[in-house]
Amino acid sequence: MPRRSSPSAPWHIPEDIRSLSLAFRPREEPKLTSNCPFIPQFISSRGNEYFCEIDEEYLTDRFNLTGLNTEVQYYQYALDLITDVFDLDADDDLREQIEKSARHLYGLVHARYIVTTRGLAKMLDKYKKGDFGKCPRVLCDQHPLLPMGQADLPNQKTVKLYCAKCEDIYNPKSSRHASIDGAYFGSSFHNILFQVYPALVPEKSVRRYEPRVYGFKLHATAALARWQDSRRDDMRERLNAANIDASFVEDSEEEEYEFEDDNDDDDKTEVVKEAVTGDQAPARMDVGV
Ligand SMILES: [Zn+2]
Repeated sequence: MPRRSSPSAPWHIPEDIRSLSLAFRPREEPKLTSNCPFIPQFISSRGNEYFCEIDEEYLTDRFNLTGLNTEVQYYQYALDLITDVFDLDADDDLREQIEKSARHLYGLVHARYIVTTRGLAKMLDKYKKGDFGKCPRVLCDQHPLLPMGQADLPNQKTVKLYCAKCEDIYNPKSSRHASIDGAYFGSSFHNILFQVYPALVPEKSVRRYEPRVYGFKLHATAALARWQDSRRDDMRERLNAANIDASFVEDSEEEEYEFEDDNDDDDKTEVVKEAVTGDQAPARMDVGV
């Protein structure tokens, strides 16, 4: 312990250190009042601010719940609890288990609901109100965030927040939010929202933080070159995925050599050769498909 004078001095560990952990950790939930409707109680509970209210018609259409019966314990009781037709005389322990299942079921249905027209509109309202928080990046000027999951399966990753301006994701500030399962929002919702409402795609943040020492820029040329390299690699990956060859003038020879070297696909080599001769991209796409 190089920075401690006394070895017996305890390290100060903040109480909320658990919230710093990136591992998935199910959270403690407040108990529900049994004689109140489930959904309004759930939505208004502290920590559940990211959730929107699922329409009753959506919940009662069994088609929308396909496959969830194997995912949730006490599925039928949980569904009855959510739709307020629960009338089992259960003891406290069982009731608690069923409530836990109901919250899990609500989350899983929520992920499906928020990509429907009605669900998207509801989440859009919350987004506009800033219910999901603002981007912590200074140069994003408090751009509102959207909740998202990094996985679609439950119990894998907790919810993260996506900023459409800097196109990056962040951990929620509050530990209550940070422990919500990301699968309750899913990995596609935030992207679908901008596909459905393209006018909401913000202008990309072109401003970048420039490191300076007493006003002098640091390694500006090197930083720019790194950025350009990464942009070029990204673009090349996207073009390759779309089956369009994207040789740059300065590295076309190298690219051609590489492709011909692992020559196990005649069609592919032909496409590359054609590309190098300078044909237009759409023609190349036709050949590739
Ligand atoms: Zn941002």
